[in-house]
Amino acid sequence: MLCDTVKEGINCSFMSKKGCTFNQGACHPIIDKCEGCDKIKEFPSGRYCTIFPEPAIKWKSGHCNMATHVKIVVQEVKTKLNPLKASKRASR
Ligand code: SF4
Repeated sequence: MLCDTVKEGINCSFMSKKGCTFNQGACHPIIDKCEGCDKIKEFPSGRYCTIFPEPAIKWKSGHCNMATHVKIVVQEVKTKLNPLKASKRASR
């Protein structure tokens, strides 16, 4: 159902005929850590995330999994090679 509280026009599963059923009856604005994310949208009521109603919760344990401005650095773990097996493989 389309939101008619703070994110007007956005299709939201928390919206019902009785109004917003989310915690405190409306979405919460973005937090500082969200700055730079493509999911932020400006509304007349403020800046909100288009997919999560309470951005602070998404950052509570680590970074938000849907953040577009966070680059995940994957560290390559080099495994120790057995020199005997490596020399056998090389000789094939
Ligand atoms: S997707 Fe995550 S980082 Fe981006 S605005 Fe929403 S809560 Fe913030």
